[in-house]
Amino acid sequence: MFNFEKNKEIKKKHKVSRETYKVIVVGGGHAGCEAAAAAARIGCSTLLVTNNKSKIGEMSCNPSIGGLGKGHLVREIDALDGIIAKAIDMSGIQFRILNASKGPAVRGLRAQADRNLYKKAINKFLKKEKNLKILEDEVIDLDINNEKKSACGVVLSKKKVSCETIVLTTGTFLNGLIHIGDKKKSAGRIGEKATYGLSKTFKKYGFNLGRMKTGTPPRIAYKSINFKKLKRQDSDKKIIPFSFMNKSIKVRQIPCFITNTNQKTHKIIEKNIAKSAIYSGQIQSTGPRYCPSIEDKIIKFKDKNQHHIFLEPEGLNSDIIYPNGISTSLPENIQKNFVRSIDGLEDAKILQYGYAIEYDYVDPLQLSNTLETNKINNLYLAGQINGTTGYEEAAAQGIIAGINAALKTLKKNEFVLSRSEAYIGVLIDDLVNKGVTEPYRMFTSRAEYRLLLRSDNADLRLTPKGILIGCVTKSRNKKFNEKQLLLKKIEKKYKNMTFSPNNLLKYGIKINLDGKIRNIFDLLVFKNIDRKKLENIWPKIKEIPNDIFEELKTKSVYKGYVERQLQDISDLKKDEELKIPKNLDYNKVPNLTNEVLEKLDYIKPKNLGEITRISGVTPAAVINILRFVNKKKTNYSKKNKWAV
Ligand code: FAD
Repeated sequence: MFNFEKNKEIKKKHKVSRETYKVIVVGGGHAGCEAAAAAARIGCSTLLVTNNKSKIGEMSCNPSIGGLGKGHLVREIDALDGIIAKAIDMSGIQFRILNASKGPAVRGLRAQADRNLYKKAINKFLKKEKNLKILEDEVIDLDINNEKKSACGVVLSKKKVSCETIVLTTGTFLNGLIHIGDKKKSAGRIGEKATYGLSKTFKKYGFNLGRMKTGTPPRIAYKSINFKKLKRQDSDKKIIPFSFMNKSIKVRQIPCFITNTNQKTHKIIEKNIAKSAIYSGQIQSTGPRYCPSIEDKIIKFKDKNQHHIFLEPEGLNSDIIYPNGISTSLPENIQKNFVRSIDGLEDAKILQYGYAIEYDYVDPLQLSNTLETNKINNLYLAGQINGTTGYEEAAAQGIIAGINAALKTLKKNEFVLSRSEAYIGVLIDDLVNKGVTEPYRMFTSRAEYRLLLRSDNADLRLTPKGILIGCVTKSRNKKFNEKQLLLKKIEKKYKNMTFSPNNLLKYGIKINLDGKIRNIFDLLVFKNIDRKKLENIWPKIKEIPNDIFEELKTKSVYKGYVERQLQDISDLKKDEELKIPKNLDYNKVPNLTNEVLEKLDYIKPKNLGEITRISGVTPAAVINILRFVNKKKTNYSKKNKWAV
């Protein structure tokens, strides 16, 4: 067990290192790597401190990136010149578009990764950053200037290192506890020790901490599986890379296989359910609803006779298969029994048993939209520590925290993305204004403006913003500008190439005879018209590069909806941006319940928009606050009494 007294002794003896950094990032996971790379790109001297250098970029669970909603986040991180998209493009062994039959707004790009190639790629991108230094050590405490309530360094195992801002991204490591059946083991991940000192630091400074859990399936030896019995799933024929910097994928693509649980599997699990750590009462905390354990699936969905299992190779030359869909905390012998009851897995050799892990998270209501904490200045939190789950959610927070930690040291304006600008904006806004009651993961349904926030236009939405704040490198800047120029040129050239329905009839294409004049991109709204058809009539169109053609087509198809959403946003913005005075006494606002008063006092919203998104705050309460603030502002503005 961790010895806090001994820890105090060690801290007293710590020498203060002469090195000092603008930004220190703690943790080399998905949030930490993006944060460190972003701060370094902006030009700040950055130190990445992590427990174990060899685990930088480690995928704790499923070796895959993207999916519904998550794929959008990856594209947006890439648009800000982050590294996750380029890394998966260098390591993806099976690329697929999920929801391919649906509209572009809800499609999700996903790729299975070779986990070693992925780690290698992440390390390569970090090494390229001239302003970044990596140190292997454990952060046992934070150095806080108590007078200023401000973070100013980290306490390592043997020394203190000072800095101007800190980004903490410790994932599942805070008080991490692994469960397999009734066995418990303290760990941050299998084979890695947990972190204790930092939870104590948070408690000391009055942060609310909660406890969550997640789980992982057993891993199976490739050679022990009878693939002949299983359904094969190949990658898409036409592969779309994640990164806007890439046109194609060079990595060899390999298949996954699909099998199912069956009645026998369900019986084994039901019979032994009391031995599962999550059903025996040993684990009390909440797990990810959208990524349930096999125990949860069988108990909660009793009417289902089978559940899909995707057998995913962990790499091109790996002997390890990741059975996606059977995460479990049952005892080892039961895991073996139920796995062997599944088609194709009759002789399965288990290489590593599944487990559940409980860990501390920091209630994200104590953060602002920059991910800086409300209680300690210059301290930013990102990733699973904020109650999220998933590499993409972690990386998205990492890049925003890293950017803001860097901008603050340069005394520049903060960088916040709104819900109407990016999925990253939706994610952070949800976290810091609504909080979490279970591990948070991204879905397209969480975004109210999803027709605007498509993954195909992430670069058009965000790269210009990234260029302005200095987190986009020259090569991307150049490529983006070239693409913009080409888009404009082609759009201009073909804008006036228009056709009426009667005109089209002459070429054998029948559409509504509504008399409307349309250009070639507008015509693609019709299901019976595709690029090939138009090319047969007007071969000149062949000169348009495919990505530019697709971009202009999507823009046309969504034009009407997008205009309506932009109008909604502009109407809402007028009131949303109303600033709330820092010293507003909510007790004086009429008719606010105690619950609402407590939440407002705790979250300290900066504007009316943030208030509208606090769970439990009714529209009536919002109107009362709006009226109160407007009235007070008129009365007091001349005296300049309020810091707004
Ligand atoms: P991590 O990737 O956990 O990285 C934390 C980093 O901090 C590590 O590098 C660690 O070494 C370092 N660190 C910790 N403490 C210290 C310290 N004191 N000093 C220095 N360095 C420190 N997500 C899903 O979407 N689906 C799943 O099914 C899923 N299953 C999971 C199963 C398990 C068992 C685990 C552990 C995670 C699972 N996840 C899953 C979550 C996913 O792995 C995380 O959301 C993601 O990795 C979080 O990224 P992060 O950067 O916040 O933290």
